[in-house]
Amino acid sequence: MQLINGKEISMQIKDELKVKVEELKKEGKEVTLAVILVGDDPASAVYVGNKKKACEYIGINSLSYELPASTTREELLSLISKLNNDEKVNGILVQLPLPKHINEDEIIKAIDPSKDVDGFHPENVGRLSIGQKGFVSCTPAGVIELLKRSGISIEGKNCVVIGRSNIVGKPMAMLLLRENGTVTITHSRTADLKSVTSKADILVVAIGKPKFITADYVKEGAVVIDVGIHRMENKKLCGDVDFDDVAEKTSFITPVPGGVGPMTIAMLMKNCVESVL
Ligand code: NAD
Repeated sequence: MQLINGKEISMQIKDELKVKVEELKKEGKEVTLAVILVGDDPASAVYVGNKKKACEYIGINSLSYELPASTTREELLSLISKLNNDEKVNGILVQLPLPKHINEDEIIKAIDPSKDVDGFHPENVGRLSIGQKGFVSCTPAGVIELLKRSGISIEGKNCVVIGRSNIVGKPMAMLLLRENGTVTITHSRTADLKSVTSKADILVVAIGKPKFITADYVKEGAVVIDVGIHRMENKKLCGDVDFDDVAEKTSFITPVPGGVGPMTIAMLMKNCVESVL
């Protein structure tokens, strides 16, 4: 069993981006990300803080808009429109979830697709599904990067994704397909989950249930990627995979923390830099 070190790989990516941003600066090009946070959700505030820190490390300018929970749909749409039209802004990120009175789909759709560094706009989702260039959702893009940089080939492999969410499961499946994997998507209505997952060469788990996947779901020698992240009662983090039970059976596995988690921000930064190229 080999651990896939997401912390190290994400650092490598950030260092590569730092060099790229310096080169761009020499050509007179700046990279600027606008981050919008509505309301005072503490977890969102931490995510936004981490994104700003990563920008600072790489040399990306970050513009921060911290709006009260009472912000109206019209006010938010008007800010997005202003940022869409601001040539100096390359990327726009609206931290989700939004307060309940604002429709997230409408807000995402309002972002100029060429500035949608989260890759959530329907145009970018469509581009991914028909094999055109566009921004890809950061967490699944990070998983592909982890596999590639760990020397794991995807082509021809039996890849199983557990979960079909718009931000992880579905784009994950599309990306594995783009890499020529043979892809199966499973979800809460899958009839016999174990019989499918136990045939996977590469198993990507994005269920949202702590330690759900035990050794009996996993084929001997499989690559297991755990997207899940949960805080346990003892304050420690764990994933959707029961790491202690599964690890021994795998050829490669991502830990939680230090696996997929750090890759999300690294790929967001990559999307920001690419928005300028
Ligand atoms: P989600 O709740 O939107 O989707 C969960 C999916 O799992 C659903 O499609 C559902 O059909 C499937 N599922 C639920 N129960 C199942 C079962 N018993 N058997 C099979 N499938 C089942 O969650 P999400 O947004 O895709 O996130 C999944 C996990 O990944 C969460 O733990 C989340 O915190 C984590 N996450 C981590 C990052 C990161 O940066 N590391 C980013 C996004 C999400």
